[in-house]
Amino acid sequence: MTAHRQPALFATDPELAALVSAEETLQAETLRLIPSENYVSAAVLEASGTVLQNKYSEGYPGRRYYEGQQNIDRVEALAVERAKGLFGVDHANVQPYSGSPANLAVYLAFAKPGDTVMGMALPMGGHLTHGWGVSATGSWFRGVQYGVSADTGLIDYDAVRALALAERPKIIFCGGTALPRTIDFEAFASIAEEAGSVLVADVAHIAGLIAGGAHPSPAGHVDVISTTTHKTLRGPRGAMLMCREEHAKAIDKAVFPGLQGGPHNQTTAGIAVALHEAAQPSFVSYAHAVVANAKALAAALLERGFDLVSGGTDNHLILIDLTGKDVPGKVAAKALDRAGIVVNYNTVPFDPRKPFDPSGIRIGTPSLTSRGLTVAHMPVVADWISRAVDAAAKADEPALAAIRSEVADLMTAFPAPGLPL
Ligand SMILES: *Cc1c(COP(=O)(O)O)cnc(C)c1O
Repeated sequence: MTAHRQPALFATDPELAALVSAEETLQAETLRLIPSENYVSAAVLEASGTVLQNKYSEGYPGRRYYEGQQNIDRVEALAVERAKGLFGVDHANVQPYSGSPANLAVYLAFAKPGDTVMGMALPMGGHLTHGWGVSATGSWFRGVQYGVSADTGLIDYDAVRALALAERPKIIFCGGTALPRTIDFEAFASIAEEAGSVLVADVAHIAGLIAGGAHPSPAGHVDVISTTTHKTLRGPRGAMLMCREEHAKAIDKAVFPGLQGGPHNQTTAGIAVALHEAAQPSFVSYAHAVVANAKALAAALLERGFDLVSGGTDNHLILIDLTGKDVPGKVAAKALDRAGIVVNYNTVPFDPRKPFDPSGIRIGTPSLTSRGLTVAHMPVVADWISRAVDAAAKADEPALAAIRSEVADLMTAFPAPGLPL
């Protein structure tokens, strides 16, 4: 038995400790291509596991319902000031528990049940919380949905404008979970203004790219910016809502007491650290390296005959359309997993297959860039993906096992904080 990384946990609950250890090994030895995942720094990991966990703090700094907030108030104020500085916004709320509750708070602030709201359809690359039917946001509100053009795979802004003017939604969401291209926030802003809608940029996926200057910022163009903190921003699992001063009260009231109770102070601390890290010159390099790696990986996949939605990428994300490959997305994703390459299966726009068994896989470069892989590694990664998809078609398990050991050899040479060497 090697020295345990969590000695108290190991002593108290060896069963759970063993699961954590197994996860550490899995993360160390595999190549994580899920575009919404990342590895937090050692400092973020430490901040997220502190005694701040022990404190109840309903309310906001200086206006709490519990005493003993001398330090907690300063932690939250620090996170708020850093968010405002990094994103250039008037107001930031760092309390939402995650991206989905953050978006629900936006609905609570600006709409009533039954109102029309507009977002991108889930199968086109939008998020569940943008008014999709199975989500509370699609059943409590009347969701109308836009998509991408069949021929280009790009958002058709004329179609978005036509829908917005016909429906006059209370809220318009832009952003999504499977969008490989730059979002034109100015185009959305002019549409929202014409339609009289509150415009929300949900930048959960690209917040780190925005912070690092590798994607245009929605600040100054939209009413509200919603983001998770754990994707490209490389913080703990959490979320933030940022807005103009005119909306500050409505947003704060919606988060607490509208939707949530006490904030997760240990997470707030981790967010503060992540925002500090994202303001450093090294994070600018990181954000640009994420995009450079994604472009290099997309080029290497195209060379190997893969079909990519929209023909490539501008950001951290690539959506591979396997309709021409006789291996559906789920079969490919499971084979890649056996080969040590972790992805998720995903619908592609106008997918002929069902959402639980779709035609695509979604990959991205935030995690591998955090581990130090560069453009020079991307042809190797594309080769592994290509070989694994071919092996999946032939049910060739030995080929998948061979890739898995090559992946482990490379990845163990590129450690991440908290992972065993
Ligand atoms: C990830 C994501 C969310 C939801 O975040 P959770 O933390 O999983 O609730 C919301 N919107 C977009 C665009 C996302 O990518």
